[in-house]
Amino acid sequence: MAGSPGDPVAVAWAERTMKELSLADVHTEPVTVRRWERGDESAQIVAPVPQRLVVTALGGSGGTGARGVEGDVVEVASLADLEKLPPDSARGKIVFLDAPTRRARDGSGYGEGARGRYRGPGIAKKLGAVALLLRSLGTDHDRLAHTGAMAADDHPLPAAALSVPDAELLHRVLDEKKTARVRLVLGAHTSGEARSANVIGEVTGRERPLEIVLVGAHLDSWDLGEGAIDDGAGVGIALETARVISALPTRPRRTLRVVLFANEEHGLDGAHAYATVHGQEALKHVVAMEADFGADAVYAVRWLGDLATRDRFVALARLLAPLDVERDDAPGGGGADVSPLRELGVPILDLRQDGSRYFDVHHTANDTVDKIDPGVYASAAAAFATAAWAAADMEGDFGRVEETSRKSKDW
Ligand SMILES: [Zn+2]
Repeated sequence: MAGSPGDPVAVAWAERTMKELSLADVHTEPVTVRRWERGDESAQIVAPVPQRLVVTALGGSGGTGARGVEGDVVEVASLADLEKLPPDSARGKIVFLDAPTRRARDGSGYGEGARGRYRGPGIAKKLGAVALLLRSLGTDHDRLAHTGAMAADDHPLPAAALSVPDAELLHRVLDEKKTARVRLVLGAHTSGEARSANVIGEVTGRERPLEIVLVGAHLDSWDLGEGAIDDGAGVGIALETARVISALPTRPRRTLRVVLFANEEHGLDGAHAYATVHGQEALKHVVAMEADFGADAVYAVRWLGDLATRDRFVALARLLAPLDVERDDAPGGGGADVSPLRELGVPILDLRQDGSRYFDVHHTANDTVDKIDPGVYASAAAAFATAAWAAADMEGDFGRVEETSRKSKDW
């Protein structure tokens, strides 16, 4: 996790690994991150029936103090319902945002829920709540809670995710008994800032070395698991892309740049730092790709660029067909780390990995390397490498993203 003792170890590993792969211009660029620690955490229903609950603090959550907070539970089924609660209706209470995460290959169910995780605690705080409990953004029924960032706040509300079975349990208690009182202890706290770094390495282009095809992933993870699928898998895909392209007898025309971003999870600090430092060379970035969706297969490719250059995308997508990747003409989005570049007009190649299983383990203690199927994972890396090579070697480029398509979704 960003700012943890493991962070500089990961940075050093990435730099060393890029050098072992003989990448060019391997270096780090400093990124300041805020440090947040989870501490001890526990929760239980105290009335009408005592029951321990499995919880984990949301990233950035406030702490409760050792004695914890206790309150009656006010359940809402959606962020929209939370926003509609009358003033004072949650004063002194614990808001329970209970929205299930829909399983979808494209991960769209998570996107809907993430807005609630991000904004819910701030809204509950305004309503006078003492804490927020969130049904985990997860498609599993394991008794593990899924963490993830909430919006930054100088005085954050204590906010925690419940495991999905515990959220369903609490819902049933409220349904049958019409009341539930919960006690929550969170040791979460911020502890200043720390230095981290983006780690960058390149395969130099043979004809136009100043033009860049960027492949990104993020070096940090949440603290609960190993971060194998989020985003160790993406780091592996980006490095493998560089490895296979540099091993080819002929380098592509343009430079391939691998960027392993600092602190995606808890503030997107590395992405913002990169866009600040490299903003002036935004025009040199021909396209950006990001691997941050686990280790499952790429099933589709989308694109975002100047519509006049669409033929080039069609030609590129054809190269991916043997890998069972279909062309999807919906506009590409790209991941969080490339969003500041998109805002500068940099085109996006959006390789869509199958996210059907991803949110079973995402941001939990279950995010461990045994979840990765090596064969399927290799096929995902092959798709990224093929697309990166094609973009780096094509004659023309994708122009710039049109003004109206540059902005990220407003959370
Ligand atoms: Zn991620």
